[in-house]
Amino acid sequence: MSMRELVVLGTASQAPTRLRNHNGYVLRWDDEVILFDPGEGSQRQLLHTGVTATDLTRICVTHFHGDHCLGLPGTIQRLSLDRVPHPVAVHFPAGGADYFARLRHASSFHETADLAVTPIEADGQRIALRCGTLEARRLRHPIETYGYRLLEPDGCRMLPEKLAAYGIAGPAVGELLRAGHLDLDGRRVTREEVSTPRPGQRFAFVMDTGLCDGVYALAEHADLLVIESTFLESEAALAAEVGHLTAGQAAQVAAESGVRRLVLTHFSQRYADPARFADEARRHFDGDLVIAEDLTTVQVPPRRVPSVE
Ligand SMILES: [Zn+2]
Repeated sequence: MSMRELVVLGTASQAPTRLRNHNGYVLRWDDEVILFDPGEGSQRQLLHTGVTATDLTRICVTHFHGDHCLGLPGTIQRLSLDRVPHPVAVHFPAGGADYFARLRHASSFHETADLAVTPIEADGQRIALRCGTLEARRLRHPIETYGYRLLEPDGCRMLPEKLAAYGIAGPAVGELLRAGHLDLDGRRVTREEVSTPRPGQRFAFVMDTGLCDGVYALAEHADLLVIESTFLESEAALAAEVGHLTAGQAAQVAAESGVRRLVLTHFSQRYADPARFADEARRHFDGDLVIAEDLTTVQVPPRRVPSVE
């Protein structure tokens, strides 16, 4: 199976700390390598993780607060410096186009990189990828902000024992998959008879936001949800006021949305002990929980094994 994993570049909100870089995340998903919200220092963090500029296929920015975009100038210039041969798609809130233009050309450099810029114009905008669909949903923050999710189409898993029972093997399997049926000695075998449904995997990226419909829409049935939890419940009123989530809220969203692996990140520097985020989240969510740390990797969980009668 192709590699599907999250590489964490940085986990600090607002200002970096001695232990946490500004935000930044890379999602490897089949033929896509997507850089999300590169904060300041992302170019050097990439170096530590072994992800190169040439690996990148796409950049997604949720909004133009500095901790989510100050890494754009360095990263974009690096694409040119390394003569990245393929186009790199870029998405960001359309209302922030002036910020993007300035960040893209923040200083003098010899521009050779081919950026395929598609701003997000509306809630629910979808972008077709080879591996599925990228969808943007509007979030609630003082400036225009969109979260993203990646949806793999539903498929099916062939059942070897059923194929064997019909004597279907080799190229006939591919033909059955393509056509949806196969005619064998006067009997038609359908794909449904020899396979079981395989729900597509989902990745969701939610930041920065207060609780809103977009958060739930993005998190729904995510195999891997990366979500901001800037604050703890003790600062819930402040979080609501400035358009952020608490660890408790993020965990409740995950629990209500059927999330399998939850990654909390974007921590305020006011909290010294990351275990407090885990303790709070655990009160609401009993699935896999990761308190993100810089320069770590989080796997997209293996597919749910479908039940077979
Ligand atoms: Zn923000």
